[in-house]
Amino acid sequence: MTIQPDRIGRLRAAIVGGGIGGLSAANALRRRGVDAMVYEQAKVIGEVGAGVFIYPNSLRQLDRMGFGAALAAVGAKVGRGSEYCRMDGSVVGPILTTDSSGWNGLYGMHRADLLDVLARALPASAICTDHRCIGFEQDGTAARLRFANGASAEADVVIAADGIQSVLQCHVVAPRPPEYSGVRAFRGLIAREKLPRWRKEAHQVWMGDGKHFMVFPVRNGSLLNYVGFVPTTTETAESWSAPGDRDELAASFQGWDPRVTGLLEKVETCFWWSLYDRRPLPSWTSGRLALLGDAAHAMLPHLGQGANQAIEDGVALAVLLEGRDAADVPAILTRYERLRRVRTDVVQAEARQNGLRYDSKYASLEQRDREIVNAREFRKGLYDYDVEEAAIAARDDGERLPA
Ligand SMILES: Cc1cc2nc3c(=O)[nH]c(=O)nc-3n(C[C@H](O)[C@H](O)[C@H](O)COP(=O)(O)OP(=O)(O)OC[C@H]3O[C@@H](n4cnc5c(N)ncnc54)[C@H](O)[C@@H]3O)c2cc1C
Repeated sequence: MTIQPDRIGRLRAAIVGGGIGGLSAANALRRRGVDAMVYEQAKVIGEVGAGVFIYPNSLRQLDRMGFGAALAAVGAKVGRGSEYCRMDGSVVGPILTTDSSGWNGLYGMHRADLLDVLARALPASAICTDHRCIGFEQDGTAARLRFANGASAEADVVIAADGIQSVLQCHVVAPRPPEYSGVRAFRGLIAREKLPRWRKEAHQVWMGDGKHFMVFPVRNGSLLNYVGFVPTTTETAESWSAPGDRDELAASFQGWDPRVTGLLEKVETCFWWSLYDRRPLPSWTSGRLALLGDAAHAMLPHLGQGANQAIEDGVALAVLLEGRDAADVPAILTRYERLRRVRTDVVQAEARQNGLRYDSKYASLEQRDREIVNAREFRKGLYDYDVEEAAIAARDDGERLPA
């Protein structure tokens, strides 16, 4: 059976992957009249319990898409009391939680809550679950996808939002495995009522001894999301749902600030992830196919920007594709790549560098502390950026250029 999307606009977009990147792109595209369909391999849309930051650079966009109230209802404001500490609890400096205008557009979100908000805004017919993409081809007029369940789909543009292990990436660049960072992240959620004196709005990071630990609130502050980043010598397959050993986690942070050890005493279960990223790819697009989110620019989580950059990608594509014809798609995708990678190449590199700071892999910790404090300036640029504005400028510029 070939799926024919309900035609709400001229262009038909097929998005492979119903994660944060794919679902936010579908919303952005539909808002601008592109007929976007999402094909997700899982039987249901959802994710295991873990938190994600939504920073001003992407909240600004989600607000404009009409998600402000829904996100405020399930997000947890992050602001007062946010700071970087050393492993003994001594303070290095405050964490910036606003853009330059002072707007505190920053939520800690349960990933499942964010996905739910994004999925609920789409027509049910626009999300095809249980569709694992196994084939892609294209010609001068259209692109076609094949799925493991026997279905197929045709579109004018295909957006690969299928994550760091993207199956579609090999149609754009030569296949290469992601790079292992040597770090394992133990993550979990803990009821805030178990730690009644915990700072309500704070994002707190403790750094030292080749590791770091962070905590921030999610789900309206009723839960705390914690992550312990620990070096490992054994490389393990990337996973989003492997159960972690809470004793191993607690032992890794023995002797740290009593706030850290006190929280870890209350942990009953946790999950772990091995952290991988990629260096900037030589290209993100091929004809009618564009990579987006982790498929395009997998990065380490040490700036909390992977999902935020994925959301920006979707807005950029939507602005550039709005009102265009199928024949324009390859040229528009090239412009999308040019616009986006100026930013994401830098964010990927800085996420790696920030991991070295957080894990105290500096010969001089005074130098590390200075850089942590000075990173406010970099973060201001990160949070002030308005991708919609930038994409409109790129689109209008392109229109003025000769063909
Ligand atoms: C420990 C940790 C903490 C993080 N914290 C933050 C944070 O605070 N802020 C932030 O912005 N980012 C954070 N990130 C990064 C963020 O999680 C990712 O960058 C983001 O989820 C990428 O979204 P995506 O939609 O591109 O990919 P994914 O979330 O990986 O989604 C890909 C989707 O594609 C589907 N799929 C895969 N293959 C196929 C196929 N063949 N056919 C159909 N469907 C397919 C998958 O099932 C999945 O649903 C963190 C990451 C880690 C590991």
